[in-house]
Amino acid sequence: MLGKDSAQATLPKGRFQAETPNQVLVVDDDPAILRLVQRILTKAGFEVTVSEHPSQVLQLIEQQCPDYVITDWVMPEMDGPTLCRKIRTAELPHYVYVLFLTGKSSGKDIIHGLESGADDFLIKPIRPGELVARLKAGARVLSMERQLQGLIQTDPLTGTMTRRAFERQAEREMVRAQRYNLDLACVMVDVDFFKKINDTYGHPVGDQVLASVGRLLMESTRRSDLVARYGGEEFCVLLPETDEENASLWADRTRQALKRLEFHGGEKDKTFRISASMGVSCRMADTQHHTTLIDMADQALLVAKQSGRDRVVAFSQLNEDDGLRLERNGNRDPLAGVPASAVMTPLVCMLRATDPVWQAADLFLRFRINSAPVTDDEGLLVGILSEKDILAAMSQPEVWKQPVEKFMRTEVVCYEEDTPAKKVHEFLCRVSIRRVVVVKAGRPVGIISRASFLRWYINWLTTHAPDGEASPDHQWQRRMDQARSNVRLAADAIIQQAAQLKQRAAGDQAEFLPELIDRASAIQELVNDMLAESRSFLAESSQLLE
Ligand code: GH3
Ligand code: MG
Ligand code: MG
Repeated sequence: MLGKDSAQATLPKGRFQAETPNQVLVVDDDPAILRLVQRILTKAGFEVTVSEHPSQVLQLIEQQCPDYVITDWVMPEMDGPTLCRKIRTAELPHYVYVLFLTGKSSGKDIIHGLESGADDFLIKPIRPGELVARLKAGARVLSMERQLQGLIQTDPLTGTMTRRAFERQAEREMVRAQRYNLDLACVMVDVDFFKKINDTYGHPVGDQVLASVGRLLMESTRRSDLVARYGGEEFCVLLPETDEENASLWADRTRQALKRLEFHGGEKDKTFRISASMGVSCRMADTQHHTTLIDMADQALLVAKQSGRDRVVAFSQLNEDDGLRLERNGNRDPLAGVPASAVMTPLVCMLRATDPVWQAADLFLRFRINSAPVTDDEGLLVGILSEKDILAAMSQPEVWKQPVEKFMRTEVVCYEEDTPAKKVHEFLCRVSIRRVVVVKAGRPVGIISRASFLRWYINWLTTHAPDGEASPDHQWQRRMDQARSNVRLAADAIIQQAAQLKQRAAGDQAEFLPELIDRASAIQELVNDMLAESRSFLAESSQLLE
C-alpha cells in the first residue's frame, strides 16, 4: 500500500525548513473514488497514497506522517469523524491537515465534522479544481504551523533541535525501533576544554564555535537523523537504523572533521582548532526507553573524557575495558577465550510455534521448566514462551487450543554458540533478564542463565585454586590430585543417579518421565563438569609444561 521512505516523515534534523506540504493520504472504502482522487492529485504534483481501510491507516499515519489526510465520512470499518479524532489525539511529528470528502452537507454534519477536528470539507461529487484549491489553502496553514514549530523547536545559536524537541522525537524513534526491531544509535558529542576557548577568545567566538559544530553535525548526518544541542557545548545525535559499529565509524569521521575546522580569535586573530569527545550507544534488546540509550552514550562520553579526550568510546567497550584492567592487575579473567557453548546448559525441550497452549503447559509441568524457546517449522528460533505468558493469556476464551505463537514473546535475547561467554556474562550482569538462548545458525541449542555462570565459575574455581609459592612441579601435582578427586566425586554422583534411574525405569510409567528428565539433566550437568575439568586440566598442563 504505502511505499514511501519513512524517513521522509520525520522532521529534518533540527532544521525545520518550511517545505511545501505535498504528501496526501486518501482514505475511502470506494476504490473508484480513490483512483479518481489519486489521479487528480498526482497530476497536480502531490505525492499520493491511498487506503481502503480506515482501521489500518492510523498506524500508517504514525509511521509516515503525511501532510494531509482526505477521508470519506461513511465507511464500514470506522467513520471519518472517529478516524479524525484518533488522528488528533495521536502523537505525530507535525500537524496533519484533515479534509472530509463527503456527500454530507447539512449544517449539523459540518458542525459535527469540525468538532471531530477536521479542517475542511469537500462535498461530493468531486470537482478537481476545488479539490486542488482546498489543499493549497491548507498548505498556507501547514506552512505557518511548520514555521512556528521550527522557531519553537530550533536552538537559535546552532540551528540544531532543542533538547525538548529532541527528547520527544527520540522517544518516538525508540518506539519505532522496538516495534520493528531496528537498530538505533545515539552519539553524545562534547567539545573539549570549551571553557578555555571562552576564556581565551571571548564568549562571542565561543558562540561561533558552537554554531560551526552544530552545522558540521547536521551536514554530516542523514535527513532521518536527529541532531540536538543537548547542553551548553554538548550535542546529542540520534542515528536510526544504525548499529554501534557504524555509529562509531560515523562518530570518528565526524571527530576528525571537527578537528579540521579552523577558527580565529584573540588580539592577533590567531587561528585555533578544537577537538571533541564522543560517547556512542546502541539500543539493545533490553533498552526500554530512549533516556537509557542517551544515558549509555553519556557514560561512554565520560570514559572518553576521562581517558584523554579527543576520542570516541562505545558503551560496549566499557566492560571490555574492565577486562583489560583485570588483566593488567595480574588477575586472569576466567572467561577469557571461553565460548558461550561451554557455559550453556543444553536444551531439554522446545516448542513449535503452532503447538497449542495446552501442550506447552503440559510440557512445562512434566519437564519442570518454566520457559521454552519456540521454533518455526524449519527449527529456527522465533520466540520464547514462559509460564508467565500462559498465565497472562488464561483469561482469554479457548486459549488452550490456540497456537503458542499468539502468546510467545518475540524479543528473545539470543547469542550464537561461538559468541564469547564474556559478552553474555556482561549482558546478564547488567539486565533484569535471567536467561538467554544460545543458537547455532539460528537454531536454539542451549540456555545460559545466571545459574549457568555460577556453576561454570565454581568449576573454574575448583580447578584454579590459588597456588601460593609452590614450584611448577608441585603445582602440577596438586592440580592433578585436585582434578582426580573432582572427577571421582562426579563419577560417584553419576553412578548414583544412573542406579536410581535404572531402578525407577522398572516402576510406574506415569511418574517415570519427570524422573528421567530430572536425573538425565543432573547426569548431563555432571558430565559437563567433568568436561570442564578436562579442558582446564589440559590448558593448565600445557601452560605448566611450557
Ligand atoms: P571538558 O573537556 O571536560 O568538556 O571541558 P569543558 O571546558 O568543555 O567543559 P565545562 O563543562 O567545564 O565547560 C563548558 C563551558 O561551556 C562552560 C560554559 O560557560 C560554556 N558555555 C555553555 N553554553 C555556552 C554558550 O551558549 N556559549 C558560549 N560561548 N559558551 C557556553
Ligand atoms: Mg566540554
Ligand atoms: Mg559539557
